[in-house]
Amino acid sequence: MKLNVLRVNLTKRRTKKEIVDEKTTEKFVGGRGIGVKILYDELKPKINPLSSENKLIFATGPATGTAFPASGRFHVITKSPLTGGIGDSNCGGDFGPELRFAGLDVVIVEGAAERPVYLWIKDGEVKFRGAKKYWGKGVWDTEDGIREELKDPKIRFASIGPAGENLVLTAAIINDKHRAAGRTGVGAVMGSKKLKAIAVRGTGEVPVADPDGLRNVMKDSLKLIKENGVTGEGLPTYGTAVLVNVINKHGAYPTRNFQTGVFPTADKTSGETMTKTILVDKKACWGCPIACGRVSRVTTPPYQTDGEGPEYETTWSLGAACGIDDLNAITKAHNVCDELGIDPISYGSTVACAMELYEMGKIPKEKLGGLELKFGNPQAIVELAWRTAYRSGFGDDIALGSKRLAEKYGAPEVAMHSKGLELPAYDPRGIQGHGLAYATSNRGGCHLRAYMIAPEIVGMPEKLDPFKTEGKAAWVKTFQDIFSMCDSLVVCKFLTFALNADYLTKLTNAVTGWNWSTEDFLRTGDRIYTLERMFINREGFGRKDDTLPVRLLKTPMPEGPCKGLVVKLDEMLDDYYAVRGWKDGKPTRKKLKELDLV
Ligand code: SF4
Repeated sequence: MKLNVLRVNLTKRRTKKEIVDEKTTEKFVGGRGIGVKILYDELKPKINPLSSENKLIFATGPATGTAFPASGRFHVITKSPLTGGIGDSNCGGDFGPELRFAGLDVVIVEGAAERPVYLWIKDGEVKFRGAKKYWGKGVWDTEDGIREELKDPKIRFASIGPAGENLVLTAAIINDKHRAAGRTGVGAVMGSKKLKAIAVRGTGEVPVADPDGLRNVMKDSLKLIKENGVTGEGLPTYGTAVLVNVINKHGAYPTRNFQTGVFPTADKTSGETMTKTILVDKKACWGCPIACGRVSRVTTPPYQTDGEGPEYETTWSLGAACGIDDLNAITKAHNVCDELGIDPISYGSTVACAMELYEMGKIPKEKLGGLELKFGNPQAIVELAWRTAYRSGFGDDIALGSKRLAEKYGAPEVAMHSKGLELPAYDPRGIQGHGLAYATSNRGGCHLRAYMIAPEIVGMPEKLDPFKTEGKAAWVKTFQDIFSMCDSLVVCKFLTFALNADYLTKLTNAVTGWNWSTEDFLRTGDRIYTLERMFINREGFGRKDDTLPVRLLKTPMPEGPCKGLVVKLDEMLDDYYAVRGWKDGKPTRKKLKELDLV
């Protein structure tokens, strides 16, 4: 199996077709894996991520757009302007499959255009088109406008809104109006290149190596997905926000900028409440049998809105993180983030940080343009999204992300991040393995490098004691390796609730024709994770950065089922490095040889 690559130089307005050979594809697969390989080989260390030297890679994988379940996804890889380390983000919707139907697996964007442009890719043919009339517009108008201009309603998009154009460090790239490659500021890199959108249309088919084999494994896989309590019932019925009550009941629902893990009115924003109030329909990414997406509508003033979501993470970041339990305001803010192209996790978390700074007296009232920045104010979360995208007034500070914001106002300890990326919706003081996962994530604070919530809270594939540290290092490593593979194939990680590594290996072999064992599958994930680590090591990250905010390490949880707990990172970190074959946050020479990386 080879990968078809389109290299686009925006400075020179040139394009070139290339092939990733079979050997390299089998070593790095596609998606996140091939993205980091290209970035590691081609990017000079320590470049400014918002300069024309950075590269922005859109990568599908061997599974994208095939019958492999939940394969309607793509990955974006770059150097992050938010963290200075690896920037990467996964996105659902329909852009990934369409790119493959157009005959392309990977698009590498280099340089920077002088004036706003968009790329129009039709069945492998590429055109540069002026985007002046879309510059300044939201993502939704951009998608509609380009479809009308090109007279094809089936065009799919990866595009940015004003946040990306204005280099907001938490800007996202949006597909299908509501699906976001949200994390690590990838939208700002696209904005720095003056690339408004990639519009793609393909009419071809995606070949698989063994169609009969794929059909056979699919039968079992779909049965497992349907029978699984999470993928067959919880997610399709209530969406990802089914987790709100579960995590709150465990006392790990980060509230008011992680000051506590209990939000008494969490149920007002839960998936169950959403289903009874604002839910209009359900929606799936391309070809997904799980369909966790929500279509929602708020009809009562002042937050009337039509759109999708909110998801679990956004329900939290725009809600409990800021002490807000107004589901209508959360849904409105969620849609504003999608329309303007902002990562709602980092945005909400940065507003929560600002609220705490304000209540500490660190941010003067006159900076706020009349806005009341206290915890619990729903108006603030909606209003600031606009100001952030346009960098208007105090929005210019929120656009920096929480780490820079808290440093600017003299209280760096208030920013709840790891490696500069805002933490998501689980307080790890009562979920020890998840704390280790946050701390060792290559891209920074993230629940999607290793999802220890599955074993520690949900009890899948087996129940682990969330308060204990023993044995967690090996679990985190295995999750990180499997998720590296999901992001490289590229398929949705929710599959892993129902399908273990054996099944994922069988599906991989059927689409690629490789003859992998489960061990090969995991070793390839290990290789990809380790190469990402080499990338961030080269940028200056090491053991000192594999850490968490001091609040989570030193301040005991004040109440609830996790009362008195902190993350005991010291008890897990050396074990983790040992199982990875790393020393002080860096892979050893022996490990690199073992993984064929030197
Ligand atoms: S499970 Fe949800 S996020 Fe994953 S591919 Fe399906 S619809 Fe998209």
